[in-house]
Amino acid sequence: MLVLQMGTLFAQDLNEGIISKVSEYNMVYPYTQKPLGYAFDALEPSIDAKTMEIHFSRHHLAYVNNLNSALEKSSESNMKLLSIFLSMSKYPMSVRNNGGGHYNHQLFFEMIAPGGANMPYGNLLTAINSTFGSVDKLKEAIFTAGKTQFGSGWAWLSVNKDGALFVSSTPNQDNPLMDITPKQGIPVFGIDVWEHAYYLKYQNKRADYLDAVWKIVNWTELERRYNEALKALGK
Ligand code: MN
Repeated sequence: MLVLQMGTLFAQDLNEGIISKVSEYNMVYPYTQKPLGYAFDALEPSIDAKTMEIHFSRHHLAYVNNLNSALEKSSESNMKLLSIFLSMSKYPMSVRNNGGGHYNHQLFFEMIAPGGANMPYGNLLTAINSTFGSVDKLKEAIFTAGKTQFGSGWAWLSVNKDGALFVSSTPNQDNPLMDITPKQGIPVFGIDVWEHAYYLKYQNKRADYLDAVWKIVNWTELERRYNEALKALGK
Protein backbone atom coordinates (compact mmCIF):
# COMPACT_ATOMS: atom_id res chain seq x y z
CA MET A 1 0.00 0.00 0.00
CA LEU A 2 2.80 2.35 0.90
CA VAL A 3 4.37 1.83 -2.52
CA LEU A 4 1.10 2.67 -4.28
CA GLN A 5 0.70 5.85 -2.24
CA MET A 6 4.27 6.91 -2.90
CA GLY A 7 3.72 6.47 -6.63
CA THR A 8 1.50 9.52 -6.65
CA LEU A 9 4.38 11.64 -5.37
CA PHE A 10 6.22 11.42 -8.66
CA ALA A 11 5.88 14.19 -11.21
CA GLN A 12 3.22 13.56 -13.83
CA ASP A 13 3.22 16.83 -15.75
CA LEU A 14 4.12 15.10 -19.01
CA ASN A 15 2.35 12.19 -20.65
CA GLU A 16 2.72 9.83 -23.60
CA GLY A 17 0.64 12.07 -25.89
CA ILE A 18 3.01 14.98 -25.30
CA ILE A 19 6.35 13.20 -25.50
CA SER A 20 5.32 11.16 -28.57
CA LYS A 21 5.62 14.44 -30.50
CA VAL A 22 9.24 15.03 -29.41
CA SER A 23 11.73 13.98 -32.11
CA GLU A 24 13.76 11.69 -29.81
CA TYR A 25 10.63 9.63 -29.18
CA ASN A 26 11.88 7.15 -31.81
CA MET A 27 14.78 6.12 -29.53
CA VAL A 28 14.20 2.46 -28.69
CA TYR A 29 16.18 -0.71 -27.83
CA PRO A 30 18.71 -1.69 -29.11
CA TYR A 31 20.24 1.75 -28.62
CA THR A 32 23.02 3.13 -30.80
CA GLN A 33 25.05 6.33 -30.82
CA LYS A 34 24.13 8.85 -33.46
CA PRO A 35 27.38 9.71 -35.28
CA LEU A 36 28.95 12.93 -34.02
CA GLY A 37 28.12 15.45 -36.74
CA TYR A 38 31.54 17.12 -36.56
CA ALA A 39 35.23 16.49 -35.87
CA PHE A 40 36.52 16.08 -32.31
CA ASP A 41 38.49 19.31 -32.66
CA ALA A 42 35.58 21.33 -34.10
CA LEU A 43 34.72 22.91 -30.73
CA GLU A 44 38.27 24.08 -29.97
CA PRO A 45 39.21 26.11 -28.00
CA SER A 46 36.05 25.86 -25.86
CA ILE A 47 36.23 22.07 -25.64
CA ASP A 48 39.50 20.38 -26.57
CA ALA A 49 39.65 17.49 -29.05
CA LYS A 50 40.88 14.92 -26.53
CA THR A 51 38.00 15.63 -24.14
CA MET A 52 35.49 15.37 -27.00
CA GLU A 53 37.01 12.10 -28.19
CA ILE A 54 36.94 10.50 -24.73
CA HIS A 55 33.51 11.93 -23.94
CA PHE A 56 31.91 10.64 -27.15
CA SER A 57 33.87 7.45 -27.83
CA ARG A 58 34.15 6.16 -24.28
CA HIS A 59 31.70 7.77 -21.85
CA HIS A 60 28.68 8.07 -24.15
CA LEU A 61 29.35 4.69 -25.75
CA ALA A 62 29.54 3.07 -22.30
CA TYR A 63 26.10 4.44 -21.41
CA VAL A 64 24.68 3.00 -24.65
CA ASN A 65 26.24 -0.43 -24.09
CA ASN A 66 25.25 -0.55 -20.43
CA LEU A 67 21.68 0.51 -21.26
CA ASN A 68 21.40 -2.29 -23.80
CA SER A 69 22.79 -4.78 -21.27
CA ALA A 70 20.33 -3.59 -18.64
CA LEU A 71 17.38 -4.02 -20.99
CA GLU A 72 18.31 -7.07 -23.04
CA LYS A 73 16.61 -9.52 -20.70
CA SER A 74 13.77 -7.16 -19.80
CA SER A 75 10.24 -7.81 -21.01
CA GLU A 76 9.91 -4.05 -21.39
CA SER A 77 12.84 -3.62 -23.76
CA ASN A 78 10.40 -2.56 -26.52
CA MET A 79 9.39 0.53 -24.51
CA LYS A 80 10.43 3.87 -25.99
CA LEU A 81 13.18 5.49 -23.93
CA LEU A 82 11.10 8.61 -23.36
CA SER A 83 8.21 6.47 -22.10
CA ILE A 84 10.60 4.79 -19.67
CA PHE A 85 11.58 8.27 -18.40
CA LEU A 86 7.90 9.05 -17.67
CA SER A 87 7.78 6.06 -15.30
CA MET A 88 11.46 6.11 -14.29
CA SER A 89 10.62 5.48 -10.63
CA LYS A 90 9.60 1.91 -11.54
CA TYR A 91 12.95 1.01 -13.13
CA PRO A 92 16.27 -0.08 -11.64
CA MET A 93 19.15 2.38 -11.23
CA SER A 94 21.02 0.76 -14.14
CA VAL A 95 18.25 1.86 -16.54
CA ARG A 96 17.96 5.28 -14.93
CA ASN A 97 21.69 6.05 -15.03
CA ASN A 98 22.41 4.61 -18.46
CA GLY A 99 19.12 5.65 -20.09
CA GLY A 100 19.66 9.21 -18.92
CA GLY A 101 23.33 8.94 -19.83
CA HIS A 102 22.53 7.97 -23.41
CA TYR A 103 19.73 10.49 -23.95
CA ASN A 104 21.46 13.43 -22.26
CA HIS A 105 24.66 12.97 -24.27
CA GLN A 106 22.85 12.58 -27.59
CA LEU A 107 21.16 15.93 -26.94
CA PHE A 108 24.30 17.61 -25.62
CA PHE A 109 26.43 16.79 -28.66
CA GLU A 110 23.77 18.33 -30.92
CA MET A 111 23.20 21.38 -28.70
CA ILE A 112 26.87 22.40 -28.92
CA ALA A 113 27.36 21.44 -32.57
CA PRO A 114 29.18 24.00 -34.73
CA GLY A 115 27.55 25.61 -37.73
CA GLY A 116 24.32 26.96 -36.26
CA ALA A 117 23.35 30.42 -35.06
CA ASN A 118 25.66 31.71 -32.31
CA MET A 119 23.00 33.95 -30.76
CA PRO A 120 19.42 33.29 -29.66
CA TYR A 121 16.77 34.45 -32.14
CA GLY A 122 13.13 33.84 -33.05
CA ASN A 123 10.52 32.51 -30.63
CA LEU A 124 13.12 31.31 -28.13
CA LEU A 125 14.72 34.75 -27.90
CA THR A 126 11.30 36.33 -27.28
CA ALA A 127 10.54 33.76 -24.56
CA ILE A 128 13.97 34.18 -22.92
CA ASN A 129 13.49 37.96 -22.73
CA SER A 130 9.97 37.74 -21.32
CA THR A 131 10.85 34.97 -18.82
CA PHE A 132 14.31 35.95 -17.59
CA GLY A 133 14.56 39.62 -18.63
CA SER A 134 17.54 39.13 -20.98
CA VAL A 135 19.87 36.53 -22.46
CA ASP A 136 22.49 37.51 -19.86
CA LYS A 137 20.02 36.78 -17.06
CA LEU A 138 19.32 33.36 -18.55
CA LYS A 139 23.07 32.71 -18.76
CA GLU A 140 23.37 33.69 -15.09
CA ALA A 141 20.55 31.32 -14.10
CA ILE A 142 22.07 28.39 -16.02
CA PHE A 143 25.53 29.12 -14.61
CA THR A 144 24.17 29.20 -11.07
CA ALA A 145 22.38 25.90 -11.68
CA GLY A 146 25.55 24.36 -13.15
CA LYS A 147 27.97 25.72 -10.58
CA THR A 148 25.83 24.83 -7.58
CA GLN A 149 24.91 21.31 -8.71
CA PHE A 150 26.85 19.34 -6.09
CA GLY A 151 29.00 16.63 -7.68
CA SER A 152 28.05 15.25 -11.10
CA GLY A 153 24.96 16.30 -12.99
CA TRP A 154 23.40 18.59 -15.56
CA ALA A 155 22.11 22.17 -15.81
CA TRP A 156 18.98 22.54 -17.96
CA LEU A 157 16.73 24.97 -19.76
CA SER A 158 13.33 23.32 -20.30
CA VAL A 159 9.71 23.98 -21.15
CA ASN A 160 7.13 22.98 -18.52
CA LYS A 161 3.63 21.63 -19.20
CA ASP A 162 2.27 25.18 -19.45
CA GLY A 163 4.80 26.09 -22.14
CA ALA A 164 6.93 28.23 -19.79
CA LEU A 165 10.74 28.17 -19.77
CA PHE A 166 12.52 27.24 -16.56
CA VAL A 167 16.09 26.52 -15.42
CA SER A 168 16.96 23.56 -13.20
CA SER A 169 19.71 21.11 -12.41
CA THR A 170 19.62 17.32 -12.01
CA PRO A 171 22.06 14.97 -10.27
CA ASN A 172 23.96 12.19 -12.04
CA GLN A 173 22.29 11.35 -15.38
CA ASP A 174 18.75 12.32 -14.39
CA ASN A 175 16.90 14.71 -16.72
CA PRO A 176 13.74 16.84 -16.71
CA LEU A 177 11.64 14.22 -18.52
CA MET A 178 11.90 11.72 -15.65
CA ASP A 179 9.06 11.37 -13.16
CA ILE A 180 11.61 11.30 -10.31
CA THR A 181 12.73 14.86 -11.22
CA PRO A 182 10.97 17.54 -9.11
CA LYS A 183 10.53 20.02 -11.99
CA GLN A 184 9.41 18.10 -15.07
CA GLY A 185 9.68 19.51 -18.58
CA ILE A 186 10.94 19.03 -22.14
CA PRO A 187 14.66 19.92 -22.37
CA VAL A 188 15.65 22.72 -24.74
CA PHE A 189 19.27 22.94 -23.59
CA GLY A 190 21.44 21.00 -21.17
CA ILE A 191 25.04 21.38 -20.02
CA ASP A 192 26.96 18.34 -18.83
CA VAL A 193 28.73 19.30 -15.58
CA TRP A 194 30.37 15.95 -14.93
CA GLU A 195 34.13 16.35 -14.46
CA HIS A 196 34.70 14.06 -17.47
CA ALA A 197 33.20 16.85 -19.64
CA TYR A 198 35.87 19.40 -18.76
CA TYR A 199 38.59 18.16 -16.39
CA LEU A 200 41.44 17.74 -18.93
CA LYS A 201 41.35 21.41 -19.93
CA TYR A 202 39.65 23.15 -17.00
CA GLN A 203 40.49 20.90 -14.02
CA ASN A 204 38.44 22.15 -11.05
CA LYS A 205 37.37 25.38 -12.80
CA ARG A 206 33.78 24.43 -13.62
CA ALA A 207 32.77 28.08 -14.04
CA ASP A 208 35.36 28.58 -16.81
CA TYR A 209 34.03 25.51 -18.59
CA LEU A 210 30.44 26.78 -18.32
CA ASP A 211 31.54 30.09 -19.78
CA ALA A 212 33.27 28.30 -22.67
CA VAL A 213 30.25 26.09 -23.42
CA TRP A 214 28.06 29.18 -23.63
CA LYS A 215 30.18 30.32 -26.61
CA ILE A 216 29.49 27.15 -28.63
CA VAL A 217 25.74 26.78 -28.12
CA ASN A 218 23.97 25.90 -31.36
CA TRP A 219 21.02 28.29 -31.09
CA THR A 220 19.54 26.92 -34.34
CA GLU A 221 19.09 23.56 -32.63
CA LEU A 222 17.73 25.18 -29.44
CA GLU A 223 15.20 27.22 -31.43
CA ARG A 224 14.10 24.01 -33.18
CA ARG A 225 13.78 22.18 -29.86
CA TYR A 226 11.83 25.05 -28.29
CA ASN A 227 9.31 25.23 -31.14
CA GLU A 228 8.95 21.44 -31.17
CA ALA A 229 8.32 21.39 -27.40
CA LEU A 230 5.60 24.04 -27.65
CA LYS A 231 3.94 22.11 -30.48
CA ALA A 232 4.10 18.87 -28.48
CA LEU A 233 2.43 20.66 -25.56
CA GLY A 234 -0.25 22.07 -27.86
CA LYS A 235 0.90 25.66 -27.20
MN1 MN B 1 29.20 13.41 -20.02
